[in-house]
Amino acid sequence: MYNPRVESLRNAIVRYLARRGVAQRAIARIMRIDRGTVQSVLRGKSGHGFGAVVVVRRCPRCGGLTTWPCRLCRMKDLRKDLRNENR
Ligand SMILES: [Zn+2]
Repeated sequence: MYNPRVESLRNAIVRYLARRGVAQRAIARIMRIDRGTVQSVLRGKSGHGFGAVVVVRRCPRCGGLTTWPCRLCRMKDLRKDLRNENR
């Protein structure tokens, strides 16, 4: 039975574990799914937003190695914008 809500929760957990450095084989065992499914989730086939391909680059502004666009700089920009608006 296909249940999109359950599947997206599962995908979120799979991605979370992968981000924490858990091996794909271990994720498959924990989630009781096969490795192919783990791989396709991590490849972003059934994901949305960020999940897809994670681009890690060095940020030219703050020098941090981060997902692109730089989250750190974006937060800073956001805060700056908020300050400007409040002026
Ligand atoms: Zn940056």
